[in-house]
Amino acid sequence: MEFELSEEHRLIKDTARRIARDIVAPRAKEVDVTGEYPHDFFDAFRKAGLLGMAIPEEMGGTGNGIFPLCLAIEEVAKYECGAGLMLVLTGLPNRPIVFGGTKEQQQRWLPGASEGVTKGAFCLTEPDHGSDAANLETRAVRDGDDYVLNGNKVYISGGTVADYLTVFARTGGPGPKGISAFVVDAHAPGINIDRTDDKMGVRSVPTAHFSFSDVRVPAENLLGLAEGNGFNHAMLTLNSLRPTVGARGVGLAEGAAGYALEWARGRKAFGSSVIDFEAIQFMFADMAIQIEAARNLVYKAAWLVDQGKFGKEYAHNLSIAKAFATEMANKVAFDALQVLGAQGYMKDHPLERHYRDARQLMIVEGTSQVQRVVISRAMIDRNLVYG
Ligand SMILES: Cc1cc2nc3c(=O)[nH]c(=O)nc-3n(C[C@H](O)[C@H](O)[C@H](O)COP(=O)(O)OP(=O)(O)OC[C@H]3O[C@@H](n4cnc5c(N)ncnc54)[C@H](O)[C@@H]3O)c2cc1C
Repeated sequence: MEFELSEEHRLIKDTARRIARDIVAPRAKEVDVTGEYPHDFFDAFRKAGLLGMAIPEEMGGTGNGIFPLCLAIEEVAKYECGAGLMLVLTGLPNRPIVFGGTKEQQQRWLPGASEGVTKGAFCLTEPDHGSDAANLETRAVRDGDDYVLNGNKVYISGGTVADYLTVFARTGGPGPKGISAFVVDAHAPGINIDRTDDKMGVRSVPTAHFSFSDVRVPAENLLGLAEGNGFNHAMLTLNSLRPTVGARGVGLAEGAAGYALEWARGRKAFGSSVIDFEAIQFMFADMAIQIEAARNLVYKAAWLVDQGKFGKEYAHNLSIAKAFATEMANKVAFDALQVLGAQGYMKDHPLERHYRDARQLMIVEGTSQVQRVVISRAMIDRNLVYG
């Protein structure tokens, strides 16, 4: 077992840290207030070559893997959780193409994504089907050389800036086997953004609600040129990216704890620094325990993914990391805010933003409850026991 970072991983972490400090941190408050997508963050990631890590080299990516992607996400999420989401989005719409696309399809979309020439968005959730995505209703019906797409997709991260959409739609009967995946030109006739959301947190990456009305999608855009595999591609994508959501939680918690520690050293009460009270010291100890445990779970989950271990038999490992790290981020943000007292409740300090941003992590890409469904199924159905 090796706990040291390789030279390549160290370089990626340092690069992300530099971008985080120089470009993300100074504008973190502003992008939260305006809710405007920070193109300058994306440009910095592009110039540093950080956009192709979730895409194998032979498909036009940089192929570094999910573990180094997590390192980069952790660094930027210390200052702004949306910047971490931007990096997650380098995987979310593209991994279905990695897993399910033909060679021609991979060459068509993945090099552009890796180079930052184009951006994608992942369209799974519908108004009536979130966790229950296997029963989604958006339909794609074959008509000559095209499919005709009709339906609605909601809360799509990065939808307003996307060039292409990876859309999951029903081509067959009910349930997961009737679902196929398509790559769709985001500006095709019949696609409309009906609204964007006024979100509680992670406001720098807008979420869009799409309607598809008789959108003609060339049949050559059906992933793998075969119907019925879409749900599997979606689940493999979500499984393999669970560590990246966890990494957003780890980074956010590190940022929150670091800020509170710095503040507690300077704040005086009853003639001492706040940091001298044992009650406060133990809060920091608990934060450190939680962060360290979550970071190790996330790194191990990312390592599993990079070994190709993200199928059904490993799903519980990935779910444990996602659930623990995202819930940990909420606890740490809660305590860090408490350390500041009234000041932590004010928008002048980043903790108020971290606290709001953390809430998103337990909902997206499989809620905490859904992760527990996966984990408990592994324990009960497959008799998975520890000991
Ligand atoms: C900021 C943001 C960004 C998002 N970005 C994207 C995106 O880019 N692409 C995309 O496709 N979607 C996206 N989503 C949607 C997200 O994936 C869904 O919100 C999530 O899957 C949960 O679905 P839901 O909100 O419909 O909740 P529901 O599925 O309706 O769940 C409601 C409640 O019931 C619980 N629940 C549901 N099923 C079970 C079960 N079997 N057992 C126990 N409890 C259960 C849930 O945990 C939750 O507490 C985003 C959401 C947000 C908030």
